[in-house]
Amino acid sequence: MIVCPSCGANLKFDPTKQRMLCDFCGSDFDPKEFDVKADAQEQQVTEQTEDLDTYDVTVFTCPQCGGELMSVDSNTAAAFCSFCGASTILNSRIAKGKRPEFIIPFSKTKEDCKEAYLKIVRRALFIPREYKSKECIDGFRGIYMPYWSYDVKQSGPVKLKGKTESRSGDYIITKHYSLSGEIDASYEGLSYDASSSFSDSISEALAPYDVKQRIPFEPSYMSGFYADIADVDKAVYSKEAAGFAYDRSVERIKSETPEFRKFTIEDENRPADKGPGTAFSSRTMKGHSSMYPVWFMSYRNGDRITYATVNGQTGKVAADLPIDVKKYLLFSGVLALIIFVILNTFLVLTPKAVLVTASILTIAVFLINAVQRNTIKKAVTGEDDKGIQSVAAAAKKAMKDKKKAPEPDIPEAKMSPVEKITLFCGIGSVVIAALMIFFIHVVHDMPYYVMCIFDAVLFVLSFRFTLKNYNIMATRRLPQFDRKGGDDRA
Ligand SMILES: [Zn+2]
Ligand SMILES: [Zn+2]
Repeated sequence: MIVCPSCGANLKFDPTKQRMLCDFCGSDFDPKEFDVKADAQEQQVTEQTEDLDTYDVTVFTCPQCGGELMSVDSNTAAAFCSFCGASTILNSRIAKGKRPEFIIPFSKTKEDCKEAYLKIVRRALFIPREYKSKECIDGFRGIYMPYWSYDVKQSGPVKLKGKTESRSGDYIITKHYSLSGEIDASYEGLSYDASSSFSDSISEALAPYDVKQRIPFEPSYMSGFYADIADVDKAVYSKEAAGFAYDRSVERIKSETPEFRKFTIEDENRPADKGPGTAFSSRTMKGHSSMYPVWFMSYRNGDRITYATVNGQTGKVAADLPIDVKKYLLFSGVLALIIFVILNTFLVLTPKAVLVTASILTIAVFLINAVQRNTIKKAVTGEDDKGIQSVAAAAKKAMKDKKKAPEPDIPEAKMSPVEKITLFCGIGSVVIAALMIFFIHVVHDMPYYVMCIFDAVLFVLSFRFTLKNYNIMATRRLPQFDRKGGDDRA
């Protein structure tokens, strides 16, 4: 806890003033003047060596999901969990946090954050009403998220291969060139999130942060806020950062050097995984542990959860926006009716044309559902999330499990029996429709209309699955963290 020198009350960091503010006597102070360690020294004599790279924190652990948050305010209690949305008093313990190198302090207040979120939500027509409720919006919590920010420098001679292709009659003439030059480029603060509890999809959506505003870390900036704990290794994203810098430099070389513009530039030594190639003879790379500000809110709906986040520096919003299925069906039903009336007034539809259209729509909705199931599978297994993957791999290694891991069970992506029957009927109806139109040449109108009604029923049924899948994609599984004890990983 950071104490007000004038009155002894708790000081909190104020994003508007960028000062430490006392709620009690109204004084304000420079955040750099305070150190949480001063508070700890009163209670016990701590080892000097340890104090240099650690600071005192209270770690809150959720009894339901195991999610953890840190705070420098030792006398507060956390009454809900931001990760799983449980409203329960979180267990707390005193621990040592590892000092990150940099911090970008909050500059958006909670009010700014709510306003930015409401702006997005008001535009989301089909969002369930609860998402706009006061209780929901009050749940925004300021959390510093751990990031790795990499600085990359490229200098010295550059060697690239260039290629031009031209056509002469039946021949394609390819000319190869060796391109060389000098480079002096530097990248600062290429950032990747360093917590496996904070998904890459959110951190990418919240990007970019202006890293020019990063300053050396002081615990005082955390007062009044929480912080998530870093558990992803520095090496995980370093290749990605190096590859990113490589791509950007090659792009710049091409666009700023007129002589190079006509070439297709290639680097034959570039690894397939998009790491840095060998074009730049000298490259240095540094990873810095950093903390970036995020306003974070979770909303729990049964066994699913949604996150809404606001960039605490820029005010950019990234939110999961599910839809109210009833609202959506009602809306699209009315819309379909209007379209049908219009079409019926202006066009003379033959039964055959109607059946062809119905069959195409049926196929389309089943295809969409298949794509959705695939996306859900990827999202649930965290296939696209490097942080989650690396932590999962480390856990697997720690278990020393020699047996092949079983296929992950993903009930969200499985088809329900009703869904299977619908799909089966859908395929059947398309086959029958094709037979009727191309082979049997049915003359009466009635069978066509019967088929159309059958298709319409199937369509409505499977459209509901589309909406259900959409909501699965717009929400998340309740998290379950398996973090090992001890304070050294913070
Ligand atoms: Zn005071
Ligand atoms: Zn929890």
